[in-house]
Amino acid sequence: MSTSETVTFDAGACPCNAGRLVKRVTSQGNPWSGVDVAFSIDCPACTTEWRIDRTMMVLRSSESAYYSALAADRVARDAVHALVLPLIEHFLKELEAPNKKALHTELTRLNLTTMSYRQFLEHMRRGNNASAAVTSTRNPGWLSSIADAHGVRDQLDRLSQTLKSTGQACTHAAQQVVRRKIQ
Ligand SMILES: [Zn+2]
Repeated sequence: MSTSETVTFDAGACPCNAGRLVKRVTSQGNPWSGVDVAFSIDCPACTTEWRIDRTMMVLRSSESAYYSALAADRVARDAVHALVLPLIEHFLKELEAPNKKALHTELTRLNLTTMSYRQFLEHMRRGNNASAAVTSTRNPGWLSSIADAHGVRDQLDRLSQTLKSTGQACTHAAQQVVRRKIQ
C-alpha cells in the first residue's frame, strides 16, 4: 500500500502569461525518503516553446543553435581525426618496436599517451589498436612534424583552425541558451 502524497502548488505565470507553472511535491509518507519536486507548464503554447530542466525553464529554440554548434564541432573533430589517424598508424609501423613495453616507453617519451603501461596492456588485450592509445594533441610539435613529413601540414593547420572555431562557437552557443529559474 502506497502512502505517497502529492501536493500541487501554483508556481507563477508561464512566460506568455496565458497559463501557469505548476509545482508538484510528492512525499513518500516516511521520514527517510525526501520529497520529490517536479515542475510542469500548464500552457500549450509555452510547453511547445519551453522545456523543464529540474528547476529551470529552457527555451527550446535557443538550444537548437547549441546542438547545431555541437554537430559542427563533431564534424570538424572527425575531419582532424581522419587526417591524423593514418599518420599515427604509419608512425607506429615505422617505429618497429620489438614489444609492447618498448612501444609504450616510446609513446610515453614523446608524451603521446595518457595511459600507464598497465592501462596500455589492458587496452591492447581488449583488441584495440595501438593508434587508439595515442593522443596526438598532447604533442603539437610532434604532430606538426609528422604532418610535414607527409605533406599535409597545411591541411592539418586548416582543419585545426576550423576545430578551434567550432569549439569557440560551442562555448558561445552554450552561453546563449536561455534559461529561466522557476521561483
Ligand atoms: Zn504560456
